[in-house]
Amino acid sequence: MMTSKEIRQSFKDYFASKGHQIVPSAPMVIKDDPTLMFTNAGMNQFKDIILGNAPVKYRRVANAQKCLRVSGKHNDLEEVGHDTYHHTMFEMLGNWSFGDYFKKEAIEFAWEYLTEILKLDKDRLYVTVFEGSPDEGLLRDSEAAEHWSRYLPAERIIDGSKKDNFWEMGDTGPCGPCSEIHIDIRSEEDRKKVNGLLLVNKSHPQVIEIWNLVFMQYNRKADGSLEELPAKVIDTGMGFERLCMAVQGKTSNYDSDIFQPLIQKIGELSRSRYGEDPQKDVAMRVVSDHVRAIAFSITDGQLPSNAKAGYVIRRILRRAVRYGYTFLGMKEPFMYKLIPTLIDVMGEAYPELIAQQKLVERVINEEEESFLRTLETGMRLLDKQIEEHKAAGKTQLEGAVAFQLYDTYGFPLDLTELILREHSMTVDTQGFNLEMKKQKDRARNAAVIETGDWVQVHEGEPEFVGYDLTACESRILRYRKVKQKNKQFYQVVFEKSPFYAEMGGQVGDSGVFIDKDGKVFRIFDTKRETNLAVHLCNEIPADPTGIFHLEVDIEKRTATECNHTATHLLHEALREVLGKHVEQKGSYVSPDVLRFDFSHFRKMTPEEIREVERRVTEKIRQDLKLEEHRHVSIDEAKASGAMALFGEKYGDEVRTVRFGTSIELCGGTHISSTGRIGTFRIVSESAIAAGVRRIEAVTAKKCEEYLYAMEDTLKSVKNMLNNPPDVAQALQRLLDENIEMKKTIQEFVKEKAEQLKQAVIADKEIINDIAVFKLTGSDISPDVVKDIAFQLKGQFPEKMFFVAGTSMKSKANITVMLSDDLVKKGLHAGNLVRQVAKFIEGGGGGQPHFATAGGKNVDGLSAAMQLILKNL
Ligand code: ATP
Ligand code: MG
Repeated sequence: MMTSKEIRQSFKDYFASKGHQIVPSAPMVIKDDPTLMFTNAGMNQFKDIILGNAPVKYRRVANAQKCLRVSGKHNDLEEVGHDTYHHTMFEMLGNWSFGDYFKKEAIEFAWEYLTEILKLDKDRLYVTVFEGSPDEGLLRDSEAAEHWSRYLPAERIIDGSKKDNFWEMGDTGPCGPCSEIHIDIRSEEDRKKVNGLLLVNKSHPQVIEIWNLVFMQYNRKADGSLEELPAKVIDTGMGFERLCMAVQGKTSNYDSDIFQPLIQKIGELSRSRYGEDPQKDVAMRVVSDHVRAIAFSITDGQLPSNAKAGYVIRRILRRAVRYGYTFLGMKEPFMYKLIPTLIDVMGEAYPELIAQQKLVERVINEEEESFLRTLETGMRLLDKQIEEHKAAGKTQLEGAVAFQLYDTYGFPLDLTELILREHSMTVDTQGFNLEMKKQKDRARNAAVIETGDWVQVHEGEPEFVGYDLTACESRILRYRKVKQKNKQFYQVVFEKSPFYAEMGGQVGDSGVFIDKDGKVFRIFDTKRETNLAVHLCNEIPADPTGIFHLEVDIEKRTATECNHTATHLLHEALREVLGKHVEQKGSYVSPDVLRFDFSHFRKMTPEEIREVERRVTEKIRQDLKLEEHRHVSIDEAKASGAMALFGEKYGDEVRTVRFGTSIELCGGTHISSTGRIGTFRIVSESAIAAGVRRIEAVTAKKCEEYLYAMEDTLKSVKNMLNNPPDVAQALQRLLDENIEMKKTIQEFVKEKAEQLKQAVIADKEIINDIAVFKLTGSDISPDVVKDIAFQLKGQFPEKMFFVAGTSMKSKANITVMLSDDLVKKGLHAGNLVRQVAKFIEGGGGGQPHFATAGGKNVDGLSAAMQLILKNL
């Protein structure tokens, strides 16, 4: 039996033998595309080629691609674990032709690979072709059907609807019919009972799609119409796990050798056996699936967090923890213990797992721990709700509460329902769904981007000239209108541009372009869309055909470059001071600040921070010149000592940036020599996740401002202390004195309270058999009064009535203390003070036996006291 490793390799070997270039998997986490958080299909990394934004380097390409389908257009999360063939993270095997072969060869290759190389049973395969769509004037894809008929009888070539058999990249852009290959893995017996033909595309777990061949031949325009694509594209995707299941003769992906080791390990940790209890089986599948998704996203640089992609990952992890908790009894972190097993299965094909094992384990462990705490808080909240509802005779939990449990505590609706059922209660599912819809609408509205069609002005290839220039003359190639969150602006593509488009953490340039009459158009940002540099501006010239003068905002650019170069120096210094385990995990470079995230397992000590600063500053003083190589092969670059980052996408040719001994693969812009950075300081160092630290630092002018601000603070402190030679010592002396003084004051207060108390006791009056104590006077703090009140209560436990009308710094205070027997008789200190608070123009209240009120009218005190005493 072929192992999964052999199957993956056989795919690559087969397509290599058919003239395909085998390329690596792109990172699963996407960092530079605002429309997509995670790779969800093999074609994502070729989007710019398909859209014509990047040149075709190889016309035939194949690979295995890490994919994640948990958000946006493809979201399989809720299926995962409940069925046996959808995963969150899976590998997609694919082959591409960019303007080379088309339907005939794509079909031939697929068929030959499945039936000749892997020897899958031909009788168990079915294919679908697009049935056509009369409203769009699209005919049946008889071309594909024709080619298939060389291999399969006509009845097993099934017509499919637009939903299943017409692929579109988005609302606009490349699209075309597709042809799917389905496999029937049922037993011979079942196959005799029901014809597999009837089960294709019917969500049968054992008659499933394994391969989708997309024939991109149209481009959809913004008005919905279709035009022929000049260069046609083949894009295929096959689920690797499903393929392995079929080849290995299993009926569930989880029975293949990709998942079994994980399942076994989970069984061992939870003392359960797979295949004995359906609920536990679901949980084991969920955990074995999710741990892969989480591990791969961490190695690709996306840690679980509170926002965006990080939150998606956190939710996956929580789902797994929750299943483990509820169905496998896992009350302690355990998923991190699966990583060694995962590495056994996947480490060879994806060495990033091995390289970052420790980080992955730590992050998962910490996330598990903190979520288990949240889960317990959620359980308590639900218990409390159940109790309250029972007390009020209600049997239905409000949808909003169930949603809060879902959203904040990770309780899926079915868990809440399960727990409630044990108490004969239900959930208002309609209300829950409404809340869910509201949240989805909010998310959708925030994300909606409407784009118009590109208006082509000139033909040509865009070129970035910003490594050498900050201004140049250029023509507009094309532009389009964009609407986002009710804001309208334009995206403009220039033939030549010095503007850096946001990438690799460095923010985009802003600046202007000027027409021949001197009219100025502002470019407020430069972004990258599928590798195309788009300049954002609010206005388009009435005549866009001319030559324009482009100019980058130099001040902003220079400040950004200082920070970018300093980031490289910082990276190197951190590796020297802390060790080689330091790896870049994220970076953000703007004109104001640089942020650098890196793996390290302890808080940095002040000495380490100082040492790093010293090393960076030393490199600044050495005024190292920028040495840049724009077209080096990745191997050459690595040989020269440049470090490739995990989770970054590199082409075959890369750019290296070198300052002395610091060598990095980098596409960003840099200052010409380090001396121009001037100064550098780390302003903060903190944790952003288990094992990942963040440094924020400033350079150049911003650093100067930062240092001045500190200097000013110090100077003013010095001034306040009368310019002592040693500020710290003088301040310490002051603090010590202060402590001494506080002690002395406390003693005075105690003494004074004692004196006052004695006086109050001496003036005691008996009214109606009750001992009445009164305290009046100014400069008596409320604390002193309170102290006296409680002492009196202790000394006279029965028939005691204490009332004080005192003032402190022109604030009036009323205090009442009653012995318990008076409270039992119906007197209430809180009510008494509330009743008279108006006399002192204030408010107050308290308990039945002790209450206070405060106000600003000292003159009203005696009237207030008199009224209170009337209650006796
Ligand atoms: P399905 O209808 O089974 O969800 P799909 O139509 O979403 O599949 P495509 O988008 O065409 O699938 O993806 C190509 C191939 O990737 C599929 O034929 C299938 O083998 C595989 N695939 C798709 N989604 C998943 C998933 N969630 N887990 C594992 N494999 C998948
Ligand atoms: Mg799907």
